[in-house]
Amino acid sequence: MPDYSTQSVRPGVDREELEFDVLFVGAGPSNLAGLWRLLDLIERHNAQPGAKRLEGLTIGLIEKGDAIGDHAFSGAVLDPIALRELCPDYRDQGFPSEGDVAREEVWLFTQRGGMRAPVPPPFLRNHGNPIVSLSRMVRWMAERIEQRTVPGVDVMLLPGFAGMRVLWEDGRVVGVQTADKGVQADGSPRSNFEPGNRLKAKITVFGEGPRGHLARELDAVLGLQDGAVNPQVYETGAKEIWEIQPGLVPDGFVLHSTGWPQADGESGGSFVYKLAGDRLAVGYVVSLDTQDPFADAHLALQKFKTHPRIKPMLEGGKLLQYGAKALAIGGWNAMPRLAFAGGMLVGDAAQMVNAARLKGIHLGMKGGLCAAETIVQALLEEDFGADSLMRYARAYTESWAGAELRRTRNFHQILGHGLTATAAMRLGISLVADGWTPGDPLRSEPDAERTASTEAFYGKAGVKRDDLDWGVKFDGQLTVPKLDDVYASGAMHDEHQPGHLKILKGDQVCATCWETKGSPCTVFCPAQVYEMHPDARGKVEKVAISFSNCVHCKTCDIKCPEGNVIWTPPEGGGGPKYSLC
Ligand SMILES: Cc1cc2nc3c(=O)[nH]c(=O)nc-3n(C[C@H](O)[C@H](O)[C@H](O)COP(=O)(O)OP(=O)(O)OC[C@H]3O[C@@H](n4cnc5c(N)ncnc54)[C@H](O)[C@@H]3O)c2cc1C
Repeated sequence: MPDYSTQSVRPGVDREELEFDVLFVGAGPSNLAGLWRLLDLIERHNAQPGAKRLEGLTIGLIEKGDAIGDHAFSGAVLDPIALRELCPDYRDQGFPSEGDVAREEVWLFTQRGGMRAPVPPPFLRNHGNPIVSLSRMVRWMAERIEQRTVPGVDVMLLPGFAGMRVLWEDGRVVGVQTADKGVQADGSPRSNFEPGNRLKAKITVFGEGPRGHLARELDAVLGLQDGAVNPQVYETGAKEIWEIQPGLVPDGFVLHSTGWPQADGESGGSFVYKLAGDRLAVGYVVSLDTQDPFADAHLALQKFKTHPRIKPMLEGGKLLQYGAKALAIGGWNAMPRLAFAGGMLVGDAAQMVNAARLKGIHLGMKGGLCAAETIVQALLEEDFGADSLMRYARAYTESWAGAELRRTRNFHQILGHGLTATAAMRLGISLVADGWTPGDPLRSEPDAERTASTEAFYGKAGVKRDDLDWGVKFDGQLTVPKLDDVYASGAMHDEHQPGHLKILKGDQVCATCWETKGSPCTVFCPAQVYEMHPDARGKVEKVAISFSNCVHCKTCDIKCPEGNVIWTPPEGGGGPKYSLC
């Protein structure tokens, strides 16, 4: 098993050990919904006369962002079904909605125009759903939790702490160790060295989002993916938030498109969401199972903004914030085992996303809700073994969320080569046949393995991205170079620490990839972390990594065609600073 840590185990270091009954890793909507519901259920249980009381409990939540919400990134139009289950009167509780969807457009774009669907297809109907900034939404959820007092329960929300490695005892999960802080690039401690803590828990809920670093360790040890039909697969989405001229875009406006700027045979799509206060979210997602070694979500977004339907909305506006993140799109057929002795997986870490709807928040939140129910039963029975916790997996798959994921189980594979006539026919069949389509279940391959050589894809051996037409010129106004966008993400890391992006198999692998595939990491990374600096002969010896730019999207860990990059958490607190995303 590869070493998933940036840090050595440091055998001599004294680590504080903290005991929790339940520990949540990651403050995304899935885990926050889980923690919130857990408090509700404990309170309700303890109010029953004569019930065995649940008391003296300590529940913790760690988040690698400096503050909860800093690393939360999404579209987003929310299907409020899970939020309603959690908090039926959320609209009266200060929920930070950006407005309700009132006007929807769905397009198949060509470079200069396109075809607008007369009515949105059923999976893209959003009328009445709230538009949200996930960053604002999770801050609200955390505040609601902080304001609660449940007798007999201590809740500790701990932002700025990254889970670095899983703690194991006799093959079962018993918590996580957090990252050391104040470590020098060479691994030696600095004067401000703070050793990571051993956070031990009876149940640990892993809600790390897409391509969880600890989830990878769990899979490597427990084989969680073994029973799945397909491997986990992803898209990468890049998004900008703009301040726009008042009145240019009506409140509640939502646009989705496919087609241009993606080339024929490629899959991906856009979203444009009107936010409160004359702001607009404009985003583009690119499927990472593309064969194109030069697929680039950031570039696709820059081109997309020049489309005649989009450009006028941004005229006279200004860029406020940028971000990027991977999105799990494998769905039903790529879901790992959801529970094991001492732990559970929720949300994107378990592929709980409906790729057809570009929605995962409600499905991940339902994961949290189902997990909470099982946790209460497990605490009452004091049984934290695999069989006990697998009740969560059954409850989830039998819920409306399981049914929704099952219905769209073939969506991504159907559209894997874009909206062709065959794809449209198969999609139509799947919509009326509860997800079935000829060949069901359609297979997928790991994203990294799909990447072609430049010779195979572009017909030219040794071609580099800069040799090809970019299809857009950055003007610094409408179209923004990557590094300017990175600046707008607020990404920052303490540069004294060891790099958190680890090259696994050595620099020679990167040098060969430069020759054959033109180093896709230098293109797909939406934060320009990776660069190749060829010598006079055009040769490179190693990849240059500016880890401080990293926006924690995880694309490199997923799409490096050689499996040569492992993303590990930096010291807690580093990374992007999202407030509007
Ligand atoms: C471009 C884009 C557009 C989208 N649009 C929509 C939409 O319109 N509607 C919708 O419903 N969904 C949308 N989604 C999907 C949605 O954002 C996700 O499904 C959802 O955020 C998943 O929630 P989660 O709680 O599982 O994980 P996340 O939201 O990813 O949260 C995980 C949290 O865990 C933290 N974390 C990770 N690892 C560690 C660690 N080791 N230690 C401590 N903390 C850690 C992270 O910093 C993060 O805060 C979109 C996603 C993208 C990328």
